[in-house]
Amino acid sequence: MALIPEIVKTAVESTKMVYQYTVYQLKHPALNNIYYCVLIAYVACFVFEIILPKKRLHGVLSRKGFWLDTFYVFFNDVVVYIIGLFAICAVTELIFLKILGLFGIHSLRVVDITGWNPVLQVAIMFVIQDFCEFLAHYILHRSDFLWTFHKIHHAQETLGAGSARHFHFVEMFIFKPIIYIPFAMIGYSAADYFLFQITVQNVWGFFTHMNIKLKWGFINYIVNTPETHSWHHAKNIPRHYGVNYASILSVWDLMFGTFYLPKNEEPQIGVPDQKNMPATFMKQLIHPFRQVASGKHKTSQNLPPKK
Ligand SMILES: [Zn+2]
Ligand SMILES: [Zn+2]
Repeated sequence: MALIPEIVKTAVESTKMVYQYTVYQLKHPALNNIYYCVLIAYVACFVFEIILPKKRLHGVLSRKGFWLDTFYVFFNDVVVYIIGLFAICAVTELIFLKILGLFGIHSLRVVDITGWNPVLQVAIMFVIQDFCEFLAHYILHRSDFLWTFHKIHHAQETLGAGSARHFHFVEMFIFKPIIYIPFAMIGYSAADYFLFQITVQNVWGFFTHMNIKLKWGFINYIVNTPETHSWHHAKNIPRHYGVNYASILSVWDLMFGTFYLPKNEEPQIGVPDQKNMPATFMKQLIHPFRQVASGKHKTSQNLPPKK
């Protein structure tokens, strides 16, 4: 089959499959239903924010951006994630296989760990996934082109659980399918990756963006927390290109020298050129494309002078 029709067929079939899966899951609420588990996790984060807010900064419902973030939760988790992520991973796999086929390789699988002990499987998937997320996040900050899109996530002036989903869909469409490839190399399908993403990654994202006044002590050095992630969102970037890129495990930042957590200080959230950033959903959707088209993305990093 010619490549373009095959890509279209794969995308349509994948979208149909995930749509049917989603409808089935939503019609069958249960505690082991992942959609409801993610929803419960989000509501739990939100309840904790109400009980223990960082009073000094802002209220939970009244904080600037709460309703926009809530819309982003719907847009990125329902429209983009559920409808698009699975399909784009399947298409990426297809294209990779076509390229490898030119060299006589017909499978992405290097080793199949799917028969291994389930705990070991989850541990391996978790570490691979988390390192790839760290690397991808670092690249989002280093590349002028990608930063223009990722800057939409950083232009928020307050944080709450929903802020995790406040990002431009382009950054996800570029990186998530590429991060899927290592999954495919150890024997998993796009469906497995999709489920891992919407549970592990989403729930931790809600947690790290929470507006909560708890101090996390030594836990900050093990996993990314609301405390460490708030410094990732610091308006005055502590170091060139930023700090605390980890998605879950802090070990990556500690290893690569990008861990940053000053004592008894609270960062101001946002980007240095906040006044140039659009405030509404549609404008935020268009803004990075306009920046790239006009070449302005090349100066969008607002980096502090090198010391
Ligand atoms: Zn970032
Ligand atoms: Zn963030």
